[in-house]
Amino acid sequence: EVRVRFAPSPTGALHIGGVRTALFNYLFARKNGGKFLLRLEDTDQSRFVEGAEAYILEALNWLGMEVDEGVGAKEAGEHGPYVQSQRKDIYQKYVQQLIDQDKAYYAFDTPEELDAMRQRLMEAKVAQPQYNSITRSSMKNSLTLSAEEVKAKMDAGEPYVVRLKVPQKEEVRLKDMVRGWVKVMSIDIDDKVLLKSDGMPTYHLANVVDDHLMKITHVIRGEEWLPSAPCHVLLYEFLGWEDSMPEFAHLPLILKPDGNGKLSKRDADKKGYPVFPLDWNDPRSGETSMGFREQGYLPEAMTNFLALLGWSPGNDEEMFSLEDLCERFSIERVGKAGTKFDIQKAQWFNQQYLKNRSAEDLTAFVLADAQKAGLECSEEKAAAIGQLLKERVTFPTQFVAEGKYFFEAPTAYDDKVIRKKWTTEANEVLADFKNVVLALEDFNAETVKAAYVELCEKREIGMGKVMQSVRVAITGQAGGADLFETIATIGQQEVAERIQSALD
Ligand code: GLU
Repeated sequence: EVRVRFAPSPTGALHIGGVRTALFNYLFARKNGGKFLLRLEDTDQSRFVEGAEAYILEALNWLGMEVDEGVGAKEAGEHGPYVQSQRKDIYQKYVQQLIDQDKAYYAFDTPEELDAMRQRLMEAKVAQPQYNSITRSSMKNSLTLSAEEVKAKMDAGEPYVVRLKVPQKEEVRLKDMVRGWVKVMSIDIDDKVLLKSDGMPTYHLANVVDDHLMKITHVIRGEEWLPSAPCHVLLYEFLGWEDSMPEFAHLPLILKPDGNGKLSKRDADKKGYPVFPLDWNDPRSGETSMGFREQGYLPEAMTNFLALLGWSPGNDEEMFSLEDLCERFSIERVGKAGTKFDIQKAQWFNQQYLKNRSAEDLTAFVLADAQKAGLECSEEKAAAIGQLLKERVTFPTQFVAEGKYFFEAPTAYDDKVIRKKWTTEANEVLADFKNVVLALEDFNAETVKAAYVELCEKREIGMGKVMQSVRVAITGQAGGADLFETIATIGQQEVAERIQSALD
């Protein structure tokens, strides 16, 4: 059975990259009839942020990614707890095993000593100063100290960490589903800390132990974790889990819209677009960052857009519902190259999905928008506005702004039309039109249109000749939704009054 996990650290809001990782895991699970797990990697207590867990769950829920097992799942799974800070004892056991088998060691170096080492290596122009199979020999650890010295330090309560004993000359290989074979010489891997002085495991240890115990079959995550993968492979090897090691897939970087470097929150803030799924109020800085949801993006537009950040169907199809994606997704079609984050494309998707929403949804959007603006709007009117403007807005929050004239008489008239087209003849037609409108017994778009056509015929003028002046008189604007539908929606009395004030 395929089992994948999304394993965020609750250190803040989910960045767009994190949401994409969640989505690709979810799609892979669905496509393969497997399970999608959610695990919280909260071993770095100093970076823990209140509210982040709830935020993550709400974001997944908004986008329609149901968790099958772990945090937020309907049924408790059998491999819990799924929060790493609650699994301390489990990690301890494996740390001990690694130490007993000489695959890990205690290190007592103080922060000052570690700094001094780095300084020394930098002065000697070592490209990558690190605590590794060479430098460890000059440091204070259980490989250089005698057993008595180690015991004395422990008894005295000196702080220590446990480090991975990376061999000096071994080729570490892993096959990545996206990029093929990745090979690293172990001399380039540092002796990573596995257990911190506070007794908490580091990400590396907890991640590997949990993926193994939770029977994860595929690790799908962002490219930023690729440099950690060789260390993880060593850990699987050292713990005797080589044969059940998960397969890896590292997803391509998400780049700024211009392709120049990694997409950052700062860049997004500057250009005024969101990189978080939901609004986020950071409890540390007090700062609010905008989310896609609150900006008016629809979840189905978001998942469609996200899926194409790295995955492609292999042809030029673009529109995919979450359901389609669950059927079509495959890691083979995930690219290696960084993928550009194009907010215009996201908006385009939103527009496509918005106009395809049901009549009820569109009505609800208009009602909500009108209410926010403090405008009165009947359900019937909202329904009409929804249909008339659905092609003209990108977000559900733009109906009132786009169709102000449905709610209020114009306070100004389009300048160009006034100067170029609003002739005496137009005024005459308007005056007649007002009376014709008022006389209609059956008032709707068709009857209004028929009346207008008849009027133009009688006066022997082309329909288009004064049409724009009529529109401007009623809406103030030179363009907008279908004029006769608009008139019908605004209402008989109101339209007549507007024409009258335009003539006054
Ligand atoms: N806790 C890591 C993160 O925050 C998980 C990385 C992984 O999937 O291995 O992204």
